[in-house]
Amino acid sequence: MRKICLFGATGSIGKSCVDIVSQFPQQFGFATISAHSNIDALFELAQSQRPQTAVFSGDADFNAWERKFRTIGVEFLHGTGALEEAAARDDYDVLVNAIVGAAGLKSTLAAIKNSKTIALANKETLVAAGELVMGAAKENDAPIIPIDSEHSALWQCLVGENMEEVERLILTASGGPFREKPKSFFRDVTVEQALNHPNWDMGAKITIDSATLMNKGLEVIEAYWLFGLKLDQISVVIHPQSIIHSMVEFVDSSIKAQIGLPDMRVPIQYALTYPQRLPNNLPRLNFAEFNNLTFFEPDTVTFRCLQLAFDALAEGGTSPAVLNAANEEAVWAFLNKKIGFDQIPLLIEDALENHSNHRTVTLENVLSSDAWARKFVSEKQ
Ligand code: NAD
Ligand code: MG
Repeated sequence: MRKICLFGATGSIGKSCVDIVSQFPQQFGFATISAHSNIDALFELAQSQRPQTAVFSGDADFNAWERKFRTIGVEFLHGTGALEEAAARDDYDVLVNAIVGAAGLKSTLAAIKNSKTIALANKETLVAAGELVMGAAKENDAPIIPIDSEHSALWQCLVGENMEEVERLILTASGGPFREKPKSFFRDVTVEQALNHPNWDMGAKITIDSATLMNKGLEVIEAYWLFGLKLDQISVVIHPQSIIHSMVEFVDSSIKAQIGLPDMRVPIQYALTYPQRLPNNLPRLNFAEFNNLTFFEPDTVTFRCLQLAFDALAEGGTSPAVLNAANEEAVWAFLNKKIGFDQIPLLIEDALENHSNHRTVTLENVLSSDAWARKFVSEKQ
């Protein structure tokens, strides 16, 4: 039985992970689950999944909850450092990090230092500190297996291949709900419109990132660090049906694609069973229903966020950390109706232009750049 430490258990990925684990009771069980804002949901999950430990990283009446968790025989950890404490323990085999945002960085690093396998959904960790995270993973022999569907697709296409024979990675993007809209449309976009993604049902932050195409930008940076290729070997193609999850082109012009229905349970299960596969009852793709797969060049002028991500990666140092933190702040401001949809890229660009880049990427530099960018964006609202 593989023991799982699941951070962000109450979110969209977290729930899909619980679903997969419940389907394989012989293979998987939870050592730890965590949540940040909904402690009732954490308690309910603890009741149904019976982990050893439940971690709540947000604010709550801790004494009352400690008593409540004790009645069901689940240890309750809370407060600053509780996630890192759980990640540093030896009671689990794999960390599934499904926290949203750079808030997932420190606990990922704690699990890496503990030489655990990391099944990573939390792409912001790699965007903010890819060099540090991959360096620490290598040093501590901690495999990082992607959960993000595009990266899982690339990972699957690369099984048995030689990285030197890869010409380029082709990340597919749905294009989001505003794919065919002109830039002028963005000024009056409502939160409800932006949250209405055509193909995927996801958390609020990544849904907005998909509408701005920043999600694809973050994924380019994620792919850069995960697969160790050059920036010009990573390209993006718009594929509105989200059936091809990504592709690898090899030096002999052959292309491998990973295909399936858009369902995050597939890459989550693969990350947990890799290098094996286990039979499941998830819905199967019927090709007759998807007989018109289409592809377009991304429009990086209309969707400026994608270009900003390419530029921040080319710039290097702490620029990607600033891109990520400025984006997080701008997205939450949009979700809280403090700024317009069209202001998201403007605020990020402004932060990138005003940031003094730290060429040496240390954890301190990443965290201070992240904090600086958040403050910069929040003061501009
Ligand atoms: P979500 O908002 O649905 O869930 C986020 C989870 O993280 C919740 O359990 C929440 O309690 C926890 N959390 C929030 N802020 C936290 C903080 N400051 N500290 C600790 N925990 C915190 O988000 P999601 O859609 O499940 O996405 C999670 C991650 O997975 C993101 O990085 C996202 O980009 C990535 N991802 C998601 C999908 C998807 O389909 N949802 C697909 C690919 C990648
Ligand atoms: Mg993705």
